[in-house]
Amino acid sequence: MITVPTNLSFVTMFEAAADAMLLAEESGHIVLVNPAAQQLFGYSADELSGLAIEILIVPRYRKQYRYHQELFLNKPTKRSMGAGNELMVLSRDGKEMLLDISLSPIRVQQQLYVLITFNAINRRLDVEEALRISEERLRLAKQAAGLGIFDYDIKRNIIYWDKQMRKLWGEPSETTVSYEEFVARIHPEDRAARQTVIEYAMNPAGNGEFKAEYRIVDPINSSERWISASGRVYFEAGYANRLIGVTRDVTEQKNTQKKLQMQRDETENILKQQIAARTASAIAHELNQPLAAISAYSEVALHAIHNDGFTSDSLKRALEGCVEQAQRAGRSLHELLAFLQKGELVTERLNLNDLIRDALTIVSNDGHGKFYLALRLQQNLPVVQCNRIQVQKVLVNLFRNADEAMRAVDLPTLTITTQIDTMNGTDKALVIVQDNGPGLDAVMTKRIFEPFFTTKPAGIGMGLAISRALIETNGGHLWLDSDTQSGAKFLFTLPFAP
Ligand code: ADP
Repeated sequence: MITVPTNLSFVTMFEAAADAMLLAEESGHIVLVNPAAQQLFGYSADELSGLAIEILIVPRYRKQYRYHQELFLNKPTKRSMGAGNELMVLSRDGKEMLLDISLSPIRVQQQLYVLITFNAINRRLDVEEALRISEERLRLAKQAAGLGIFDYDIKRNIIYWDKQMRKLWGEPSETTVSYEEFVARIHPEDRAARQTVIEYAMNPAGNGEFKAEYRIVDPINSSERWISASGRVYFEAGYANRLIGVTRDVTEQKNTQKKLQMQRDETENILKQQIAARTASAIAHELNQPLAAISAYSEVALHAIHNDGFTSDSLKRALEGCVEQAQRAGRSLHELLAFLQKGELVTERLNLNDLIRDALTIVSNDGHGKFYLALRLQQNLPVVQCNRIQVQKVLVNLFRNADEAMRAVDLPTLTITTQIDTMNGTDKALVIVQDNGPGLDAVMTKRIFEPFFTTKPAGIGMGLAISRALIETNGGHLWLDSDTQSGAKFLFTLPFAP
């Protein structure tokens, strides 16, 4: 049988309690302080005895405390911890602590006492507060950047998305969506390129990074919005498991870029036309005189043949005149070309891989570049010596041509390779730009470097002619590999820096 000690006094239990406890009079003056409370507040029992409880309350909370005290005294019932009775108290050494308190009224011969028990909740609240602050920061940052968050559970084929993303997709209430429903809103023209990027990111051999830009279409009014998405694939046991990422609405940015690009294209076209017109008139000017002279000499020769007084001498003189004028025309053309190409070429030591990345950025900012990119850049390629702007122009032109050619292809892929070319015993940097577009037939292959050869309705046909001239000016060569099975493969070389 269990014997219960019935003679345990209040004071024994009060002293033994692990929680900090105070006994106060109705007036709020402290009567007893247990050892746990002495330790918590840093005062001895004697020091606190007779003092008002307020001395233990942080001054800015005292008014609030008095209000609660009054409420309690009006209706002195037990109030347990966790009922929102929290107090900011002050220890002897000035440390502020947030404590949860319970109040129990004790009546001894008409006299009301209050037993106050304290429990430290600081740590829990600190963690909660830190979490709340960091969540709030994240929310504000997300809001400021207009970011939406998604979590694609690849195995279950479900996408969890936040409010911001749902708003963009026009599905404000559904917190999850199937992958197929998600993709259904993506512009049909952009689906293939995006899918290629996702598949590439899901390849366990890669780094799992995902970055894509695509349009989503509003099913009601068919309006389009541009989305920039980026994220990372997580793998489990060698398989892609989740794709977590963020999306941003970049429509305004895209529209501005498009406008700027249209203006740039227009200016460039006008400039090209002006150059073409000026070049043509300069050539005409140079050729006019010799052609007129050749015509005159030819007439003399014809006249001599048809004339009875025909002598081989007069015919010879006329034909010699023709030859001389034709040679003069040739010299004039050479001089003209030399004049047009004069001006010193400013070259610098450049990392070709960086030049390629810059050119790709220009192309994608122009609204081109909706293709899957396979970069096979040689990491330790020595620097080349060339003119930055000119080589950039060539790269941009090749990428744009490839992009335009690949538009009809389902999974457009542009492969860019850099390597060291050791043709003819000298080392040069080699760049290969290969697309999987329709390629070129034999007739086109022969003519594409000719000025003004174009198959595009709004083309000028100067791009490749200018590109070849620019690469040659920089000491390299540009050509088309006609043996490629599919698509077009352009190659160019540049000299390494000494
Ligand atoms: P433009 O782009 O103004 O037509 P270019 O000199 O850059 O001028 O190109 C000339 C022509 O070469 C193009 O019209 C096109 O027919 C062809 N071409 C260029 N690049 C490619 C390519 N990657 N694939 C297929 N055809 C191409």
